[in-house]
Amino acid sequence: MSYAPSEIFLSLLHNAGLMALVVMAYSTLLRHAPKLGGRSVMIGCLFGLAGVLSMADPIRTPEDVQLDSRTVMAALAAPFGGLVATLIAAGIMGVFRMVQGGASALAGLAAIAMASGIGYAFHRIWKGRTPKAKQLLALSVASCSVLGCFALLPKDVAIAVLRTAAIPLVTNAVLGILLLGVFLAREDRNFRREQELRTEASTDALTALANRRTFDRLAYRISESARPKNSPFAMLLVDVDRFKSINDRFGHLAGDQVLAAIAAIVKSETRQSDIVARYGGEEIAVLMPSTSLRVAERVAERIRQSVAAQPLAVDGVGLEVTVSIGVSGSELKPVVFPSVFKAADDALYDAKNNGRNRVELRRAA
Ligand code: GH3
Ligand code: MG
Ligand code: MG
Repeated sequence: MSYAPSEIFLSLLHNAGLMALVVMAYSTLLRHAPKLGGRSVMIGCLFGLAGVLSMADPIRTPEDVQLDSRTVMAALAAPFGGLVATLIAAGIMGVFRMVQGGASALAGLAAIAMASGIGYAFHRIWKGRTPKAKQLLALSVASCSVLGCFALLPKDVAIAVLRTAAIPLVTNAVLGILLLGVFLAREDRNFRREQELRTEASTDALTALANRRTFDRLAYRISESARPKNSPFAMLLVDVDRFKSINDRFGHLAGDQVLAAIAAIVKSETRQSDIVARYGGEEIAVLMPSTSLRVAERVAERIRQSVAAQPLAVDGVGLEVTVSIGVSGSELKPVVFPSVFKAADDALYDAKNNGRNRVELRRAA
């Protein structure tokens, strides 16, 4: 055995900086890369590039065998980026290894393909879920089978190389996959938790609609961006008629069910780009960007009819519930959001005063 134990340590240390960079870049991509497609492409490029960087500056054993982290990067591409990332990472590393050339190029290529395949197999076994430390340990141990690629070298060279480098290579792969994997998994979990908290902070728990804070924030943003362009926007204020009597007759829980059902109807009658929020107790606000008053009034009428037409099932009983709706909009003059909201609120009062189960319209002052 001619390898120096310090070389193992050195090779790990050598890769530690690279791994830290990968974790930082991965965390940034999770938060800022476009979700569909774009993110896995970028994660694939990240792992591929990291593999290239480690191959470009490897630790060399006395027999001129390269010690680098390509196995680590290839094996982790699938668990953290999926199939697309795996193919891209393997492609980038493969091309670079071919360009590097040398007698062991074929074995080097095979190692990349094999590690990628093993990573992808584990990704499928884990059903795409973020792996735990124990699972990463299993992946790292399985990845040691990549050493089998040395069989592609002449027999005497392979034996000499394995004698010298097997232990550093195994240590590098096992610790590298385990450590980098644990840090990446932690980033995954932090990111998911962050998203959950953001959703919780912006959504109403009962109706799953946006909450008032979200509505106010988006309404301000939409009205401010519409003003210089003179582009119209409209809003609706939907209020359940005599809701207090529903609570009194059937209880608060039944009232909650009615509210959730009405929220679902309003959501289904509006467009994806409209912002539907639970604004108060039993009031739902709808903000409609680039929409004229005429169109908004039609949508309001559709919501009113839809609620009135279907008895809402509460504890097996069909309740006939109606809503009143106030409509307002900016039309083609520059107005600030509070005046649009005030007009919608006044219109809602009109609807209540004029007998309920009605739509009323007021122009913003
Ligand atoms: P109208 O609007 O037709 O004038 O009559 P109303 O009875 O609906 O009006 P009011 O605003 O006086 O009553 C609203 C009621 O909504 C009072 C409150 O107890 C109830 N409420 C508010 N939030 C909730 C909720 O989250 N769940 C339930 N079940 N009731 C709620
Ligand atoms: Mg009401
Ligand atoms: Mg009310």
